[in-house]
Amino acid sequence: MKENQIKVTSPLLPNLDEFNGLLKEIWDSKWITNNGRFHQQLEQALCAYLKVPYISLFTNGTLPLLTALQALRITGEVITTPYSFVATTHSIWWNGCKPVFVDIEASTCGMDPDRIEAAITPHTTAIMPVHCYGKPCDMERIQAIADKYGLKVIYDAAHAFGVEVKGKSVLEQGDMATLSFHATKVYNTLEGGALVMHDAETKKRVDYLKNFGFAGETEVVAPGINSKMDEVRAAYGLLNLKQVDEAIEKRHQVAIKYREALRNVKGIRFFDDMPGVRHNYSYFPIFVNAEEYGMTRDELYFKMKDQGILGRRYFYPLISAFSSYCGLPSAAPENLPVATRVANEVICLPMHHELSDGDLSRILDLIVK
Ligand SMILES: *Cc1c(COP(=O)(O)O)cnc(C)c1O
Repeated sequence: MKENQIKVTSPLLPNLDEFNGLLKEIWDSKWITNNGRFHQQLEQALCAYLKVPYISLFTNGTLPLLTALQALRITGEVITTPYSFVATTHSIWWNGCKPVFVDIEASTCGMDPDRIEAAITPHTTAIMPVHCYGKPCDMERIQAIADKYGLKVIYDAAHAFGVEVKGKSVLEQGDMATLSFHATKVYNTLEGGALVMHDAETKKRVDYLKNFGFAGETEVVAPGINSKMDEVRAAYGLLNLKQVDEAIEKRHQVAIKYREALRNVKGIRFFDDMPGVRHNYSYFPIFVNAEEYGMTRDELYFKMKDQGILGRRYFYPLISAFSSYCGLPSAAPENLPVATRVANEVICLPMHHELSDGDLSRILDLIVK
């Protein structure tokens, strides 16, 4: 690893002495997993922080997606977005369902509600949208379509930790919403994730499903999986929760500086804040219009890389372009013109709580000509 590299992200780490103190408590108690004290505390603390009634912790952000589909007994076809991390579609595949891709809107990178209805067939049972980059989807219109056709909605909210619209969490929308606490996300528990639901009955069922389906000492009610979060990560998560607001504010300041510097650069598009939304600044994507900017996305991406500035092409290639899915009729690029174009334009610039003004100057000097 080179000394002068600027990475796309940097994990939020708790104070090591405080963490050691909690580790000592875990060692003393000898209770290291299976709904221990810190696990229970973190579920409570996250409910309060995220303003949601029920949450179930997981060992990563992919298994809550799998479990949400299983808990809601989703079968047949699931309408989803190709413009996401590959785990979104994998969760549909793991449940033996067929993913059906619909195009996105360039203005949010979320699923285009206008395209959903045309993709519904008699086999459709659910919609799985993504709050891409933490930008809220058009949840009202998605829910209206779901209600009209009797479909479930499961939001992959892996990017949307703490995101609120008019003071209400986006995690409350749909039938369930999932979170990822991976090291690269705004809030991490090393690896980890969660499922947010509306009622105690559903939480109980989800808690069974993440523990092999055990409903009691001798009773197994479903072919569940093992995706429980352990005590070490729950303790780490409790400490990180105390400093996540400060980290989000630092990201906010970075976003302000990026926007100021890029506002008048021809051929570079980026997102502004949406009115009434509490953003988490999890990513700072820019979209390069090669003709106007005078350089293609990849030319800029590799120029940055040569100088040790490691952006990421999230999300390129599209999920629909991977070999597991490209044979599906809905995966054809003609069906996904906006997503196809955006995937060829995007670079996520470095964005984290430790980015210095010096780092920012180095990045911006390269982009602003
Ligand atoms: C990170 C991510 C996931 C998967 O989360 P893991 O914790 O890495 O398993 C799922 N969906 C999206 C959109 C993500 O960005």
